[in-house]
Amino acid sequence: MADIVLKGIPVSAGVSVGKAFFLNRSGRGLLSRQIIPDTRISVEVERLYNAFALFREELGEIRDRIPPELKEHALIIDSHLMILADPKLSKAAEDYIHTLKINAEWALDKAVADLEKAFGALDDAYFRERIQDVRMVVERVQHRLAGAGADMVAPMENRVVLMANDLSPADTAGLDVGKIMSLVTVQGGKTSHTGILARAIGIPAVVGVDHLEENIRDGVLVVVDGLKGRILINPAEEELERYSDLKYQFEGYQAGILRQCRLPGETIDGYRVKVKANIEILEEAAAVIDSGGEGIGLYRTEFSYMNRSELPGEEELFEEYLDLAELMSPHRVTLRTLDAGADKFISLLGAPEESNPALGLRAIRLCMRHMDIFKTQLRAMLRASVAGNLSLMFPMVSGLREVRLAMNALRQVKNDLRREGLDFHPDTPTGIMMELPSAVMTAEILAKEVDFFSIGTNDLIQYSLGIDRSNRYVSHMYQPLHPAVVKSIKHIVDAAHQQGIAVTLCGEMAADPFCVPIIMGMEIDGLSLSPQAIPGVKRIIRQATMDDCKNLLKKVLESASVSHTNRLVRDTIFQKFPDELTFYSSLVETDDGH
Ligand code: PEP
Ligand code: MG
Repeated sequence: MADIVLKGIPVSAGVSVGKAFFLNRSGRGLLSRQIIPDTRISVEVERLYNAFALFREELGEIRDRIPPELKEHALIIDSHLMILADPKLSKAAEDYIHTLKINAEWALDKAVADLEKAFGALDDAYFRERIQDVRMVVERVQHRLAGAGADMVAPMENRVVLMANDLSPADTAGLDVGKIMSLVTVQGGKTSHTGILARAIGIPAVVGVDHLEENIRDGVLVVVDGLKGRILINPAEEELERYSDLKYQFEGYQAGILRQCRLPGETIDGYRVKVKANIEILEEAAAVIDSGGEGIGLYRTEFSYMNRSELPGEEELFEEYLDLAELMSPHRVTLRTLDAGADKFISLLGAPEESNPALGLRAIRLCMRHMDIFKTQLRAMLRASVAGNLSLMFPMVSGLREVRLAMNALRQVKNDLRREGLDFHPDTPTGIMMELPSAVMTAEILAKEVDFFSIGTNDLIQYSLGIDRSNRYVSHMYQPLHPAVVKSIKHIVDAAHQQGIAVTLCGEMAADPFCVPIIMGMEIDGLSLSPQAIPGVKRIIRQATMDDCKNLLKKVLESASVSHTNRLVRDTIFQKFPDELTFYSSLVETDDGH
């Protein structure tokens, strides 16, 4: 048996066996704390500002070197540059140097602790995440103060399992990715940068691993199981053998699914499902084509509004949507109007302070309050519709009134464009996202108003089960196969089909191997998921028969609990997918108590 087995959250599938290398031990316990004489005050203040300037310069250089396919990292670095540029933080630290006569490192620690206290009290997921970013930036400045500088990223000679307390995009951008076998961090959740990077470069990753720092020495042999989220330190001979076999099998499986990913998403008995991609930035379009995506089922347009000093104008948005439509043509691209608010915070919109932002002014509600911003986006979308197959949809619709208000705004924009002699496709299909229980219960009514539905299960699960999707304390309750969720999806699909409109599912559930056969059994028209997951999902579709999916669905609809449903999936249909059963069975082993 291994000396120690640590558990974490698997965020990028795969297995690696190699030597550990710890990148940036948190070092908070080593923080230098000194009382200084009056004569050193000005020196400390200067050290403080120099360290900020040095880190800003380094970060700027890193930012310029980021390749386009890692654009999300560039955006995160931009936000870190904004934190560095905000004079409030450095000024608060400077004040502490003056008033308490302490060194710059300590003063900075106190300044960020004040912020943590203030934001922590707000009990808001967005601010909690923001404060983690501020802490990350401050720690890097403290490293510069300690003279560690950028050279804390020691050159790695051999390929390593890279471990860290947390990985900022600035840390990873300076690394030679060819030398990294896998990533493991103490911090982080399902949506952390570490996972995004690992999936982009195709290596396993596990995050949120407690007790990592104290248990890992550089050079120790570890197994990283990115399928089940386990880290084995000093594995025994038989474990090494087992994991080497698993790694070999998984790599073979991945190579196989990639080879077949351009085949259509069609069951053995000929039922065709369109498999499309969810993307956030234009640069991801190439990955969609490479992974066999048949269009974009969800383009999250929020990114163009984030981390910038002014809102994007019509021309900029028009160019962006036009480029995307042209890149993906002849495939269809579904543009979602701005879904800002709650976890997708956009500072420029000057959002009011809300005690419960997920239930507050977000998505279509926010757009109705900022009609000018909404109409600018609609104009850009419609004008881009001449270039290809564009559709558009509205997020988080709660009922008929909102659909009609949004459709009315769209009609007004069409009239304006006509008057101005600007070209657009007048019949651009327009749909809504089904992600609120109120929309589910009125699906028959809403289906009469629009051209298609797109089911956003990330939010549908959050609002149906009453759990904050970004709160780690309730993440174990985030159950896609909860009977209430399965019944809601079935109700939406049936309502859409009765009305003769198409329905796609675009939440993370569409990428979950155990959910796909059940959703297929409902005769869904399309699935939309992250590009990396497309080859695996297509393979499940191609191994299934619609008969099996329907039989499974029938039993699942009678099931009263998630654990019973999980067993049904594992013991019936998944027996037919031996590879997926080997690699993903841990997903359905949990007894959740629902
Ligand atoms: C969803 O809610 O399932 C969805 C796809 O939208 P987002 O994750 O952007 O809220
Ligand atoms: Mg949503």
